[in-house]
Amino acid sequence: MAESTEGEEVAVPISRVTAELLTGQSKSNAVQLIDFDLAKCYGDDKKNSLMLICGNCKCKVMKPGTGTLTDKEFFLPDMTTKYAIGTEPAGETIKDHWLVVDMFHFENVGFSRSVEDLKYLICADCEVGPIGWHKTGNPNEFYIACTRVKYALE
Ligand SMILES: [Zn+2]
Repeated sequence: MAESTEGEEVAVPISRVTAELLTGQSKSNAVQLIDFDLAKCYGDDKKNSLMLICGNCKCKVMKPGTGTLTDKEFFLPDMTTKYAIGTEPAGETIKDHWLVVDMFHFENVGFSRSVEDLKYLICADCEVGPIGWHKTGNPNEFYIACTRVKYALE
């Protein structure tokens, strides 16, 4: 939920974050995480049936039933702890997204500084991203890339 004051200058070495994880921070380290799987991650109503988790720090991103599976192609830069919005980085076009209609429906999410009307969604805790995107002109549309987060079987 926190606006990232660091903007595009975010830089957290993954090795350091991992080291902190291993020391047992207040994260759900014991939870079994799985990759996105169309057969497992949503129910008949197309809502996410599993908790969305940051794959890097295991921070909770979104509770079950919050997002709706949506087929929408969008280019996202590769996941990193340091990226520069507005450049043309390597990335991939992602098709499957969770559509969330209210930013307050997230458990934890951060936003990159906007360039024109685009903000990237990042983990609010470790700031790894982008895990999704948001156009400021569409205040009720937040997209989480299904393959950019992990899922918790609880
Ligand atoms: Zn994280």
